[in-house]
Order: sequence, then C-alpha cells, then structure tokens
Amino acid sequence: MDIANVQEKCCGCSACVSVCPSKAISLEEDKEGFLYPKVDRDKCVKCHLCEKTCFYLSGIESMKSDSDVQYTYAVKAKNDEVRMKSQSGGVFSLLSTQIIKKDGVVYGCILDSDFRAVHSRAETYIERDLMCGSKYVQSHLLDVYKQVKDDLLKNRCVLFSGTPCQVEGLIKFVSKLKKVYRDNLVLVDIVCHGVPSPKIWREYVRAISNEYGSSPRRIVFRDKKYGWHSFVEKIEFDNKNYMSDKYGRIFFNHGAIRKSCFSCKFTNVNRVSDVTIGDCWGIEEKHPELDDDKGISIAIINTRKGKMLFDEIRGEADVVEIDINHYLQPQLKEPIYLNKKNREEFWNTYNRDGIMMILKKYGEGTIREKIERKCGTIISLKNKLIKKFL
Ligand SMILES: Cc1cc2nc3c(=O)[nH]c(=O)nc-3n(C[C@H](O)[C@H](O)[C@H](O)COP(=O)(O)OP(=O)(O)OC[C@H]3O[C@@H](n4cnc5c(N)ncnc54)[C@H](O)[C@@H]3O)c2cc1C
Repeated sequence: MDIANVQEKCCGCSACVSVCPSKAISLEEDKEGFLYPKVDRDKCVKCHLCEKTCFYLSGIESMKSDSDVQYTYAVKAKNDEVRMKSQSGGVFSLLSTQIIKKDGVVYGCILDSDFRAVHSRAETYIERDLMCGSKYVQSHLLDVYKQVKDDLLKNRCVLFSGTPCQVEGLIKFVSKLKKVYRDNLVLVDIVCHGVPSPKIWREYVRAISNEYGSSPRRIVFRDKKYGWHSFVEKIEFDNKNYMSDKYGRIFFNHGAIRKSCFSCKFTNVNRVSDVTIGDCWGIEEKHPELDDDKGISIAIINTRKGKMLFDEIRGEADVVEIDINHYLQPQLKEPIYLNKKNREEFWNTYNRDGIMMILKKYGEGTIREKIERKCGTIISLKNKLIKKFL
C-alpha cells in the first residue's frame, strides 16, 4: 500500500507532505472537507520516505525511554484568569508559559482570521494565548512540522501541542534528528474524542454570519459562562452574541468526525507524548470539593522530561495526584464507535439539503431534550441565585 491509498486510515497529519524531498505530495480536501495526501507521480522519485514517515504504514514510534514512569494529576491553575481562558484547568497555559520564559517556542492550534483551525507558532504570551481553548474541528498543520525542525536545529526549546496523531506525525518527522536536538522538544497531546470536519465548521460559521449580516469578531467553542460541564458555543458579533449548543450536538453525533478517528490507535493510556492533557471528567464525583465548574485538567505525565517541566509549574496550580484507573473516560480506553448508517445518513443529508438541514436535524435534539434543557437552565439559574444570596 502506498501513501495515496491509505484513505480510511489517514489522519491527515501531513508528515508525508513535509518529508517529501521532491514536493510531490500535496493535501487535497475530500468531499467531506478533510485533507488527504495526493501524490504527483511525475514528481515522485520513489524514495519511499513518505511511507517510512507515515505511522499508519510504518508503525508508531515514541520518544519515551524504558525508565519513564507515568503519573496522573488533577490540576487547576491558581490564577482564575488563566483557567477561564482555557478549556479545562489551564495546564497548557502553565506549561507553555514556562517554555516562553526559557526563550522557547510554542506550537498549537489557533483560529485564523477566517475562523479556520490551523496550527501556529508563538514566541510571546499574546501569540500563545490564541492557542488557549479547544477548537473542536480538525486543525490544518500547514508547514509547522518543518518550522519545529528548524527551531530544534537552532537549539531552541520547543513545545508542540496537538492531537495525539499530530504529535505522532511530528515524532516520525523528526525521528532522524540527532538526540541532542530532540531532547529540546516537549510534546503535549490532548485526550481526543475525534476531529470534526472543517467543512461543516466553515459552513456553520458562514450560515450564522449570514443570519447576523456580519462577520464574527470572536468565537469560543465551549463558553465557560455556562460552566465547564456545559457545551455551549459563542459567536460574538459587533452588537450581539450568538449562543447555541447546536455545534456541540453535531460533534457528539459523530456523523461529522473524520473516518480515521473511529479506528484511532491513541485512545488508551499508553501515550506518545511527554504530557497528556484533557478534561478531568469524574472529579465531580471523586473530589467534588475541587469542582467549582470553572474547569479542571487531567495531566498525565508520561516521561521524565514531562515530569521535570510539570514540577516547574506545580507551584502555580492546585494539584492532586489521582489514580488514572479511576479516570478512564471512554477516549482513554477505545475509539468512538462507528455507526456506519448514521454517518452515511449525516453526509447524505448534508449533500442533499445542506448545512441548514444538518443544523435542524442534528443540532436541535429531541422535544424531550429541549424540555430538559429548558428545565436545566431554570434549575441552574435558581441554584446560582441561591448561591449568591446565601
Ligand atoms: C477536537 C478535540 C477533542 C477533544 N476531546 C476531548 C475528550 O474527549 N476528552 C477530554 O478530556 N478532552 C478532550 N479535548 C481536550 C480538552 O478540550 C482541552 O483542550 C484540554 O483539556 C486542555 O485544556 P487546558 O485547559 O489545559 O488548555 P487549553 O488552553 O484549553 O489548551 C488548548 C490546547 O489544545 C490544543 N488544541 C486546541 N484545539 C485543537 C485542535 N483542533 N487540534 C489540535 N489541538 C488543539 C491547543 O494547541 C492547546 O495545546 C479535546 C480537544 C479537542 C480540540
């Protein structure tokens, strides 16, 4: 099998594009809006580097050593501002601040001026802040792997963050670099549910922008105003804010998720990164005293390098060591389940009737859910008022 035939399994990490010496591989969007490699046979010099770099074709590698020990923590940044701009407890912000303090470089996902999720490079806190908060859509890596390599060759300290498959793509891409350079690379991966289609996201933003008659100023995928446990997206316009849980519903329906995510090889506790970050789901039951609904991260420290960096930021956070076996959310055990019929129906609906029908059919939920939602809002408002006046 060659790089052009990995379709269902290809995660779109783009390591093959970055490694190709003759620029024979480009990424092309398929009809679902996901990027896949396309090989120009006239330019291809048959060096097979792409196949050796593709982790699906040549196997998963990690930069871990046998002496690495895994630790798991529940983490809350002490500074509430840090936590509120982050999706969970703010671990990414704390770790990346430490790298910038050391004159290092941080890579992560931002929303660009067209609200596309793309990976970007940061040397300042302002640039890094754009990476905070989850963008629940597959990000485009552009030529970031090459930029990381350039930074490492200049002896810069680099933190790269992304989905586990993006981290693995980078490991494969830099695997031939000398150890002295790779030692300066810190890898942070997120616990990942699966990545939705950039096309569905793009069309959703366009549909809401048309409805409001202007371009958004800012978008937050999960606004913490309604609490860390809720999934409400906010699109800010000049005079008005659009709030909804439609996109969140579409995300959890799984119809829009990339095919390769259904057979993801990284949905377990054997992580490829130095530090894995996610939402610390389950903390509300095991340590309810910690859950103030502003977000708590799970930080799984997988390597000695990860532990050293984590120990440097410990003082900036409330940290409780936890047993990973009690915090095994589904994404740490197995890939999301592929309901082929549901996925086909999703894309048939989209191709036949467009985004508005997708929003109606998959974004609104059942009548029962709508009633429960209304009751939930009233109860949460009531609880907030009680808390305020008691
Ligand atoms: C598509 C997706 C699915 C997720 N699924 C789960 C899940 O099932 N369970 C769970 O516990 N956590 C999940 N997360 C992670 C979680 O939402 C938080 O991002 C994580 O807990 C980090 O929070 P934080 O407070 O430390 O930092 P934040 O400030 O929120 O950090 C954001 C970090 O996420 C990275 N990031 C943001 N968007 C993307 C993207 N589209 N692609 C790659 N990297 C991105 C940034 O580079 C940065 O490193 C998911 C995130 C994404 C983007």
